[in-house]
Amino acid sequence: MRQLIAGNWKMNGLLADGTALAQVLRQGCDGLGCDLLVCPPATLLRPVADILAGSAIVLGGQDCHQAPNGAHTGDVSAPMLRDAGANWVILGHSERRQNHHETDELVREKVLAATAAGLLPIVCVGETEEQRETGRETETVGWQIAGSLPDGFSGVIAYEPVWAIGTGRAATERDVATMHAFIREELRRQFGTAGAAIRILYGGSVKPDNAAAILALPEVGGALVGGASLDPAAFLAIARAARI
Ligand code: PEP
Repeated sequence: MRQLIAGNWKMNGLLADGTALAQVLRQGCDGLGCDLLVCPPATLLRPVADILAGSAIVLGGQDCHQAPNGAHTGDVSAPMLRDAGANWVILGHSERRQNHHETDELVREKVLAATAAGLLPIVCVGETEEQRETGRETETVGWQIAGSLPDGFSGVIAYEPVWAIGTGRAATERDVATMHAFIREELRRQFGTAGAAIRILYGGSVKPDNAAAILALPEVGGALVGGASLDPAAFLAIARAARI
């Protein structure tokens, strides 16, 4: 299966710079051997969708509410993301789990809402530094997988150790390989043969200089990229490092 390189722009980008970034990506994406996804802020979905229309780059949101509509001031629903041109959505990112107190149960509800709206979910899991230091990293990720993924899950997992996000300190190749093998086992246990086909991305300080080594590891189905996805040259360099 082709690797997926996904860019999470987080809360960055006004109309001028977001559309300029999308234009450079569009011009540079020909001939890539991977799938390429960008997840801009909700305010930029429609203008970026217009720029990327007809290109190989697909579009995603960064979160969605679990309800399709209603009295939820400030929230964005899965059908709204779809309507704005998204086909994917990131769910359960550690910044949502930490800053918005999102639980596995809520993430699971959001996965169901996303799937019902025709969006492919990327569900993020990963341990904190304290959980790793106390030897509870696999236990933590195991619980997150069991709690966040509904029956019949169809989407992607992103393993993102919290301590590696935005720190410049990516997990070691050995730790990535160990955790991805564990996640694969859990997915097989939970979903049988379907669990063998779920892509598992690594996220956490992926940059052009470490991308090739990470993307070459077994069970790494791509990367979720934060900071480096705001620099089109860096993001495209990561995409070119994908395993073919
Ligand atoms: C992320 O926020 O999903 C992420 C991986 O960020 P960064 O690449 O900046 O560590």
